Amino acid sequence: MSSKDFQSIIEHERVLTSPEELVTYSYDATENRCIPKAVFRPINEEEVRKIINFSRDNEIPLTPRGAGTSLSGCAVPSEGSFVIDFGLMRGIKEIDTENSFVTVEPGVVYESLNSNLVESNLFFPPDPGSGNVCTIGGMVSTNASGIRAVKYGTTRDYVQRLRVVLASGEAVTLGNLAPKSSAGYDLVGFFVGSEGTLGIITEITLKIIKRPIYFAVASLSFDSMVKAAKAVGEIISSGLDPSVLEIIDDKTLRVIKMYQDIEVGGNGVLLVEMDGFSKEDVWNRLDTALEICDLSGASGSNVARTSEEREALWRARKAALPSLARYKPTLILEDVTVPLSRLSEMLGEITKISDKHGIEIATFGHAGDGNLHPTLLVDRKSPVEMEQTKKVMEEIFRAALSLGGTLSGEHGIGLSKREFMKLEHKNSLDLMKKLKNVFDPKNLMNPGKVL
Ligand SMILES: Cc1cc2nc3c(=O)[nH]c(=O)nc-3n(C[C@H](O)[C@H](O)[C@H](O)COP(=O)(O)OP(=O)(O)OC[C@H]3O[C@@H](n4cnc5c(N)ncnc54)[C@H](O)[C@@H]3O)c2cc1C
Repeated sequence: MSSKDFQSIIEHERVLTSPEELVTYSYDATENRCIPKAVFRPINEEEVRKIINFSRDNEIPLTPRGAGTSLSGCAVPSEGSFVIDFGLMRGIKEIDTENSFVTVEPGVVYESLNSNLVESNLFFPPDPGSGNVCTIGGMVSTNASGIRAVKYGTTRDYVQRLRVVLASGEAVTLGNLAPKSSAGYDLVGFFVGSEGTLGIITEITLKIIKRPIYFAVASLSFDSMVKAAKAVGEIISSGLDPSVLEIIDDKTLRVIKMYQDIEVGGNGVLLVEMDGFSKEDVWNRLDTALEICDLSGASGSNVARTSEEREALWRARKAALPSLARYKPTLILEDVTVPLSRLSEMLGEITKISDKHGIEIATFGHAGDGNLHPTLLVDRKSPVEMEQTKKVMEEIFRAALSLGGTLSGEHGIGLSKREFMKLEHKNSLDLMKKLKNVFDPKNLMNPGKVL
């Protein structure tokens, strides 16, 4: 097939076929690479349908793409595929303040959506670290979340209605606008986190909520991660409802100090934030959290009294990933998630695995929802290290699963973890495969990802 055969599916200026252009779509934020056959940049659902119909008739796989920031390989083009790039579908179609919904095209960038909601004092909370570039379509397809998931949940909790083009070329609306529904299967939920393997999302209606006004933030030092993890469990079970409860381990702190001018004490740090609509309430809740940390053995605390001091406390957390990236050539950022009561065991397992294989691991993450980012610090040019890395990852996954956890709290499965899906899902994985086959019998929707 020559490129002439498909350049007229949509306006040819929006069909990219030159090697220079294609290479820029060949990767995401992982080490995986694959050059697509062509890239289509549709401007509406009708064009998406035309691309799907052509791909179905010619049996060409399709990989949808938002900003390409996936940390699991799910945005890397499947072998011989067309890429559908949503960069030109960035419309905010409706902000419904009466019902607290917003309807958007999939290419809208997370932070740009929230900027548009400021005036109405509403927001869409999930807040991934990549929020200044990642798209709503990518977030829905990976069930993305971030530091505020402990209070506000994940993208899944906000998806109300989807417009989707199926592999057959048929466009369907999933869900409705009612505050609740018991009418049939939850197909919206099935599409959330499906990583483009079931169909292409062309429109998303999200619930939005009132933006909090007051914030109280503190950083607590601990001489052991076990004590910090104990404090996390107590803060959550006491019903204080923190909006952020982040943990940073000793290794991460040491690397941050190497590259940034930031003073953080202790062998581990907890960052706690309370937000809400009453100044007194947020400070009362923070004070109670500080008492809990004290009783759990915190060795020091630093409370932010001004917005500048608050920013300064955030700097340490925000500096974690960039500092680790400077420390070693290759970072492998994992995101296992365990029940809160098993958090300290999981932290202990990570240390044991790191020592056993001699691979440095720095761990930080969203402790309040059991989501840890053990980050393997390696060099991809060393075959010995990369071989050890594989073993380390498998042992971390097995440890998380044995503690009742999951392979991924927010980044998804993509290419990186699909070989471990059987470990987590056992025979229900066959059920997932059968369901995928119902939606995509020719296996053309982002094949090779997830399953
Ligand atoms: C520095 C950095 C920090 C990050 N921090 C976080 C974090 O805190 N929390 C978190 O959850 N993730 C995080 N991520 C991972 C990533 O940003 C998220 O998974 C994000 O949701 C991906 O959005 P995207 O627009 O880049 O999607 P892409 O990476 O382009 O795509 C992701 C998946 O969605 C599919 N997809 C995209 N659009 C559609 C569509 N319209 N229809 C169907 N399928 C579609 C793609 O095929 C792919 O499978 C981070 C990544 C980086 C690089």
